[in-house]
Amino acid sequence: MGNNKSYYIETFGCEMNKSDSIDIALSFEERGYKKAKSEIDADVIILNTCAVRENAEERVLGRLGYYRSFKERYNRETVIVLAGCMAQERGQDLARYFPEIDVVSGTCHIMDIPGFAEERSGSKGPVIALDKNDYRFSGYRGKRAEGYKAWVNIITGCSNYCSYCVVPYLRGAEKSKSSSEIITEIYELADRGVVEINLLGQNVNSYGKDNNDISFIELLEKINDIEGIKWIRFITSHPKDFNEEIVKRISTLKKVCKHFHLPVQSGSDRILKLMNRKYTVEHYMDIIGAIRTYIPGASIGTDIIVGFPSESEEDYDQTLDLVMSVLFDDAFTYIYSERQFEKARDIPEKIPPEISKKRIETLIMLQRRISYEKNTEEIGTEKTALTIGESKKDPSEMLCKTETGKMVVVNTKAPAGRFLDIRVTGISGNTLRGKEIT
Ligand code: SAH
Ligand code: SF4
Repeated sequence: MGNNKSYYIETFGCEMNKSDSIDIALSFEERGYKKAKSEIDADVIILNTCAVRENAEERVLGRLGYYRSFKERYNRETVIVLAGCMAQERGQDLARYFPEIDVVSGTCHIMDIPGFAEERSGSKGPVIALDKNDYRFSGYRGKRAEGYKAWVNIITGCSNYCSYCVVPYLRGAEKSKSSSEIITEIYELADRGVVEINLLGQNVNSYGKDNNDISFIELLEKINDIEGIKWIRFITSHPKDFNEEIVKRISTLKKVCKHFHLPVQSGSDRILKLMNRKYTVEHYMDIIGAIRTYIPGASIGTDIIVGFPSESEEDYDQTLDLVMSVLFDDAFTYIYSERQFEKARDIPEKIPPEISKKRIETLIMLQRRISYEKNTEEIGTEKTALTIGESKKDPSEMLCKTETGKMVVVNTKAPAGRFLDIRVTGISGNTLRGKEIT
């Protein structure tokens, strides 16, 4: 059933937004819309936005500038929807500055966007829907498959209130999806040929606490038993809810990938306290020790913020020390960005931008060296790699991913979603190179 209409989604920010965009797309398709080739052809354009740092917002503002007088330019009745975190944060104001915006849809209205867009077609002034805490999971289950892989949203919102972060204000309180619903979803995905499952939440380790369901580790144990699923990954873990016991239990689950993303944010206990992270460096290092002991060869990634208000040279040096002692495989590094709502903005001792810039540059250089050394250690090793797609540089080769989440280009041809036995033969940039073992 088609309605000759089409939609086009631009997604900014984190994996949660990418996952929400899958539901948005499916909710349009359910109503007979087709995906447009470009924004120029679309009847409805959706900007699914991010507000976590200022530069994410600047990118959205740039796009809104582009959409100014878009309808006149192309002589179309396009409906423009501002969705996601920035819509939740200041959609009302933005709709005033950008009269092109027809719908402002907050983070709890993912599934309602087609309805709003149709409502808008005949009315004056924008439709604005910003009420929170009534998030509904989509229920598209198996339809969310993206070829061989799928994102499975297990918990939405966040109740942690890290002092620098706007997410709890924009996405509401933690809400877990029922475990029976998750298991049904993953069975359906496996039936469609999905082999890799990525569990998603702001803090997956809080899973089940809000609705007295099974715990995160129990959920992993159940998913591990589902036939057809080969690899299970999850983001993001919060160190305060992660411990040796969980690591031990994960180590017995064959399908859970040896790949952890464990944001540390800072190597200084004083700063961690101000960040309201609720763990110490010692606790963090205990988890790292447990991973190294029970899951040898695991890769560990992290997020780090520099220039948090009042961060001294000594605090910063402690972050560098931590990076040198953990030896992360990779790290996402950020300069603290002052936001609306978050509490850290009230700490008076701001770090001058030129100091933050210097700190992040040194940190990035250090991490690059560590990542390079870690990748060098991989040369000569044998691994299983999952094919993702053709290499962009050379379509006669395949881009693949290892269990530890590393990208490797292999000189072979195969469809996406195949497991290959490979030997790592070298490195080019951040990517490994490998040969198939036949
Ligand atoms: N829930 C996840 C991801 C949150 S946002 C987690 O807890 O890890 C992703 C990362 O953005 C955070 O880990 C943090 O490092 C960074 N971040 C969040 N707010 C920020 C801010 N105001 N300034 C700079 N970085 C920020
Ligand atoms: Fe933000 Fe902290 Fe929640 Fe992550 S855990 S989303 S950093 S408040």
